[in-house]
Amino acid sequence: MGGENCFVEQKATKEILLRVTNVCGQCYESLCEGDDVYYDMSTYRYLCKRCKDELSERMNDECEIEEEGEGLF
Ligand SMILES: [Zn+2]
Repeated sequence: MGGENCFVEQKATKEILLRVTNVCGQCYESLCEGDDVYYDMSTYRYLCKRCKDELSERMNDECEIEEEGEGLF
């Protein structure tokens, strides 16, 4: 779980929902006021908790997605 520090946890406020986005940047699920949302600092988008968890598991400490099954001997 190297990627946990690549996200900023926030509560979805009206301000965020109106001015930035009201859907998750990954799965496009609706975000509601008061939800926990996660700002992805490498792609500048808000994610729901589930997508944050999925991505952070694949990230290394530099917030890069580690590709699986390619480039390996
Ligand atoms: Zn999502």
